[in-house]
Amino acid sequence: MSTQRAFVIGHPIGQSRSPMMHNHWIAEHGLDAAYGRRDVPPEALGAFFEEFRREGYLGANVTIPHKLAVREHLDTVDDVAAAMGAVNCIAWVDGRLTGGNTDAMGLVANMDVAVPGWESGARHAVIYGAGGAARAAAYGLRERGLTVALCNRTAEKAEALAAHLGPGITGHGLDALPAEMARADVLVNTTSLGMIGQPPIDLDLAHLKADAVVYDIVYVPLETGLLADARARGHRTVDGLGMLLHQGAEGFRRWFGVMPSVSPALRTLLEDDIRGA
Ligand code: NAP
Repeated sequence: MSTQRAFVIGHPIGQSRSPMMHNHWIAEHGLDAAYGRRDVPPEALGAFFEEFRREGYLGANVTIPHKLAVREHLDTVDDVAAAMGAVNCIAWVDGRLTGGNTDAMGLVANMDVAVPGWESGARHAVIYGAGGAARAAAYGLRERGLTVALCNRTAEKAEALAAHLGPGITGHGLDALPAEMARADVLVNTTSLGMIGQPPIDLDLAHLKADAVVYDIVYVPLETGLLADARARGHRTVDGLGMLLHQGAEGFRRWFGVMPSVSPALRTLLEDDIRGA
């Protein structure tokens, strides 16, 4: 049997740590497989999927800017990807090339591990941002029974995303942040603020309840200003690297039929790479 192949596709794609993660699991499970990165500009998406089908590739992860555009190159999307309106993971299901989304599952699986018991008594979440990552956070937290307020610099984008995602999710401008933070049990930053090369985040955590969980999906650097501030105030915190690892694990399971371990060794591998970046 020839080597099974999977890819992460995006544009640009050079910074993706998915190959490091998946090739670690491939080696751990002794599989004859390889996971690579492919820089696919938007105009080359159709040609990539022709190659994908011709060569019989196993699957793919999808990142910016293709999470919406891949839909037309697939046979179908599953219920989660349809509800979220975005695809991040492609696999063959009953012979059909199927788009799914493991980002929301990865986001909450990371919380389950990082802050066990976080759900107990949690009713409301506030999400800073309304882009692709906010889509996953809002969907995932609502699945766990929380109401969600999306607060975004561009209020119209938050309102449109809330309308798309439906009941239990509302969209606002940044003027709503203090009041939403005051009643939130979970705060998630889904903007790129605080990432290396981006402006620092500008949230005043004095508005938060003392027992609120603070989650930053930015993971470069690993310890963002938001997480340092939250920890100093005594909040339980969750970093973004775990989300990457857990969404990846679910993709690996879909392709290879085995759930890989999000082990300390794997985390250290990626942490070292991020610190060296
Ligand atoms: P995106 O779709 O482009 O959304 C970016 C969001 O950030 C928008 O809500 C945008 O607001 C907001 N924003 C950007 N600059 C801002 C500023 N100066 N002030 C206030 N808001 C600002 O990007 P994305 O795909 O959601 O990714 C966002 C971040 O999440 C990135 O850092 C990415 O690396 C990270 N991420 C992490 C994971 C993980 O596994 N941990 C997964 C996905 C993404 P406007 O709408 O007003 O422009």
